[in-house]
Amino acid sequence: MIRVLVWNENMHERTDEEVQKVYPEGIHSAIAQGIEHEDFEVQTATLEQPEHGLTQEILDNTDVLIWWGHQGHHMVADEIVNRVHQRVLDGMGLIVLHSGHFSKIFKKLMGTSCDLKWREADEKERIWVVNPAHPIAAGLGEYFELEREEMYGEHFDIPAPDELILVSWFEGGEVFRSGCTYHRGNGKIFYFRPGHEAYPTFYDTNVLKVISNGVRWAALQGAAKPVYGNHKPLEKIKLK
Ligand code: ZN
Repeated sequence: MIRVLVWNENMHERTDEEVQKVYPEGIHSAIAQGIEHEDFEVQTATLEQPEHGLTQEILDNTDVLIWWGHQGHHMVADEIVNRVHQRVLDGMGLIVLHSGHFSKIFKKLMGTSCDLKWREADEKERIWVVNPAHPIAAGLGEYFELEREEMYGEHFDIPAPDELILVSWFEGGEVFRSGCTYHRGNGKIFYFRPGHEAYPTFYDTNVLKVISNGVRWAALQGAAKPVYGNHKPLEKIKLK
């Protein structure tokens, strides 16, 4: 079983009627229901919970954390950000969605401003697969489209991704690196662009497929966790 935790600040959904109509139970519930698979055990957590629902115990029992935030980035306590950061270095997978590009945890992991161009103009987004052999692209066509989305445009101030999987084109003419992977310590990170709160993006089959694929990719563990520090020799070292 892959233990997935969907984290959402859950603010727009409680204050903005338009967003409430799209996500009456919150973005986190839509994602949690949308990615349900037999081998996923999906839980949710939100900003207003004690310790933002991200206690050490909860994080220790999470294989992949999915992050959606926007208005409340500054309300996430640094202590919790450091805790999530350490769990990523220890091997927890992290999927950062849409406006999570400006979250404290993503900026800390990237080390850059993570800034970009944006525009809300109800425009079409066409998302091209540029790495068809990658497991995150499994089951997708050559591209898929979202009829209405917010535009994010280059330059996106991120370190060069380890792997670039998706590139978006927008009706207004901009392009954007929409699916990027990183390794930090023993953890894997996947940034996925779509998911503006005013649009039903998290009900889209392809979007949910990408997130589910991302969960499987980020959860996959490699070798045993490395041991650091002073080390006894494995072979006898000859006296010289
Ligand atoms: Zn947005």
